Amino acid sequence: NQITGTVATCVVVLIMQADVDARRALEGEVRRAIARGEFELHYQPQVDLKGAMTGVEALLRWRHPTKGMVPPNAFIPLAEETGLIIPIGEWVLRTAAAQLQAWSRLPETQHLTIAVNVSATQFRQPDFVEQVRAIVTLSGARPQALKLELTESVLADDMGVVQTKMKALKDFGICWSLDDFGTGYSSLSSLKNLPFEQVKIDQSFVRELLTDPRNGAIVETIMRLSVSLGLAVIAEGVETEAQRAALEAAGCQCFQGYLYGRPVPVCELLAQRSAAA
Ligand code: C2E
Ligand code: CA
Ligand code: CA
Ligand code: CA
Repeated sequence: NQITGTVATCVVVLIMQADVDARRALEGEVRRAIARGEFELHYQPQVDLKGAMTGVEALLRWRHPTKGMVPPNAFIPLAEETGLIIPIGEWVLRTAAAQLQAWSRLPETQHLTIAVNVSATQFRQPDFVEQVRAIVTLSGARPQALKLELTESVLADDMGVVQTKMKALKDFGICWSLDDFGTGYSSLSSLKNLPFEQVKIDQSFVRELLTDPRNGAIVETIMRLSVSLGLAVIAEGVETEAQRAALEAAGCQCFQGYLYGRPVPVCELLAQRSAAA
């Protein structure tokens, strides 16, 4: 029995060690990836009621030399734990701001906005506000064209601090959007007190909108709440015309999802659009 116990302990230690090794390896790879320029932003259209593109969400991709395209869910959680999300997030902001500046020079693209995902770890950096202002100013992009998406996890932080940071960037011209709304720590009073301009209905509600009536009730509640708080609403994960129609019937006026386009590199985004027009 004691032997079995010892063997079990050894196995557990080995598994934990393997986990630590895998993490170290990934951490090293992420650092090299930043240095070698292996990260890319793909852009997914956001459209209005008429289906016209008003902007995009920037979604991070890692073009790994041997593993191919690595999706963000495979490395962002670790990047958050290790703090590597800070340099990655900075690269994302710089790249998106440069794209906005490039778009501002063409009449067909100058109205487009870019929504960038900001992780809670990144937002919590004491110099976050200064960093965003510096990046946008240096790029020459209009702050009004940049949207920052935050998830509900930051709503659990010290409200005073969150409020001050968000307000400083709002005063600078940047717009705030609350991502994955309804899936996490939703404090309605904090929503009221923070300068969000938009909420994103999470794709989990959209996915089963037509099959589970409870999701319809959630979507309608989000719509009513948002209207009364003066917030715009965008639905994400819209894949079918039936979903779009149900969302529109509930009052939603802005959509994002495979129905309109998958996240693609910038050249494909504009090629698709001009082909469609
Ligand atoms: P998210 O911010 O909720 O982004 C939406 C995710 O849904 C994206 O996955 C997008 O490709 C996917 N999606 C869009 N439309 C549809 C649809 O119609 N159907 C379905 N099934 N999925 C759809 P992706 O690109 O794999 O990103 C996953 C998550 O990784 C994002 O979720 C976001 O939390 C995070 N992420 C992506 N880029 C960044 C970044 O630059 N910084 C940070 N901090 N996080 C990022
Ligand atoms: Ca997002
Ligand atoms: Ca989302
Ligand atoms: Ca999500």
